[in-house]
Amino acid sequence: MATRIEPNVQFIREMQAAGGESLKKCYQCATCSVICPLSPEDAPFPRKEMIWAQWGLKDKLVNDIDIWLCHNCGECSDNCPRGAKPADLLAALRNMAYKSLAKPAILGKWMSSPKYLPQLIAIPAVLFLIVWAISTGLRIPEGEIIFAKVFPTLAAIDPIFILVTLFVVFTFISSIGSMFSSFKASGLTPKEDAPGIFRSLIMVVKDEIIDHRKFKECESNQDRYPGHLLIFYGFIALAIVTGTIALFYWTDKLFGFGMTTPLALWNPVKILANVGGIALIIGLIYMTRSRLNADTRNAINSYYDWYILGVIWVVAVTGFLAQIFRLADTATLAYWVYYVHLVSVFMLFAYLPWSKLAHLVYRTAALAYARQIDRRGFDE
Ligand code: SF4
Ligand code: SF4
Repeated sequence: MATRIEPNVQFIREMQAAGGESLKKCYQCATCSVICPLSPEDAPFPRKEMIWAQWGLKDKLVNDIDIWLCHNCGECSDNCPRGAKPADLLAALRNMAYKSLAKPAILGKWMSSPKYLPQLIAIPAVLFLIVWAISTGLRIPEGEIIFAKVFPTLAAIDPIFILVTLFVVFTFISSIGSMFSSFKASGLTPKEDAPGIFRSLIMVVKDEIIDHRKFKECESNQDRYPGHLLIFYGFIALAIVTGTIALFYWTDKLFGFGMTTPLALWNPVKILANVGGIALIIGLIYMTRSRLNADTRNAINSYYDWYILGVIWVVAVTGFLAQIFRLADTATLAYWVYYVHLVSVFMLFAYLPWSKLAHLVYRTAALAYARQIDRRGFDE
């Protein structure tokens, strides 16, 4: 039976602009699908995505769960005889998904190009300057350096970051709901005997996230693996530190026991913070070196990569410098560096659903859904 195909030419242009500019070079040899260690036997990727992209089959691509199963190792691109860069096409489709899944869409647009960076910086920069102006009239306070004198925890920092957290969580819940609806719309419905979504999530975290097993399977990932792992565990350590400090800060205020900042260097929470920070910096060195060597990436994908690497670098370095300047009793430097630290932390978390780091959440959710429809790689 004849099938009429109506290419969406505009969508082809959007994919090329988002990073899949070489997609037309593909001549369907299928080397990429054979070489990919994560591709399932049934309807393997990324060859089929290449032909869908060439034909402009938007409906197929925007509902495609396989773009989230890819770890972006680049092995398929390295072995493509035509230089069609299938890994870049899948990355471009994920970039487009970050822009379209999360609302408001304007943030997705701002995150997609360096020309909008001033707006992204200006929002937290102005916000924390207002806090500083209200607390001390933009002056450096006298006496012991305590960051809460300029950026009050109770009156400003906690409310701001609690609102940011609620905003990000709500955005992710709504985006994942849209993503699952699009999978269902394309006929991918969970099997009757499949585990529930929360059990699937636990299985994914246990089998794939904790030790990055699948990430390690791609040979081209060998230099990125340690960096990825160190950044991941560095963030977990810092998240535990932030949660612990917040919890004890509030118990101190409400019940009169707990701890207040600044913490002593020998405090276990402070030790964990410094260990997490060092893991983050070593991981960043690995990832930056790997990014500098990645000659197969084009400028668009590089911007998503460099934005997130740059922001994490600023968070980590200013975190350490603020501590060093505080201990050295250089108040002006300490307070200004801490201000930059707050701006970068805001940029990391408030824009998370539109940044490359969002793949942590979307991929984990998509992998859990893949288990529900029993979509697995060759080796499983
Ligand atoms: S992307 Fe390259 S390796 Fe894959 S089918 Fe096309 S030409 Fe072959
Ligand atoms: S980038 Fe790696 S995981 Fe993704 S399709 Fe290519 S070979 Fe497979």
